This record gives sequence, structure tokens and C-alpha cells, in this order.
Amino acid sequence: MKVQCPKCQGNFELDAELHEEGDSVECSSCGTELFVVKKGKKLGVAESFEEEDEDSQGWEG
Ligand SMILES: [Zn+2]
Repeated sequence: MKVQCPKCQGNFELDAELHEEGDSVECSSCGTELFVVKKGKKLGVAESFEEEDEDSQGWEG
């Protein structure tokens, strides 16, 4: 799947079979280290692993 680098806005291929949330990947265009994040049902990338999360959704335990 194609994802967009937040740094250089370039698109690159992220293999969703090989990566999961929290993995670090490198932008193939600018070489920036990026983190795999969940974007809805799909994966995306972010510069740091702390997306605007809406936590406290009643996790038990
Ligand atoms: Zn980039």
C-alpha cells in the first residue's frame, strides 16, 4: 500500500504484510525514519509514534 511521508510529502510503498503499528520504516525518498501508525483500518506513517490519540476509551485491565 502507498503511504505518504509527512516530511517530504512523497509517496512510498509500505508492505502491510511485513509491517505493523509501531514499526519503524525509512522513507525511500528522503530517508527520514518514520513510524507505522494505524489510520482507521489502514496503516500510515508518522514522524513520531504518538498520533493524536483519543485514548481513555474504556480499556479494562
Ligand atoms: Zn520522505
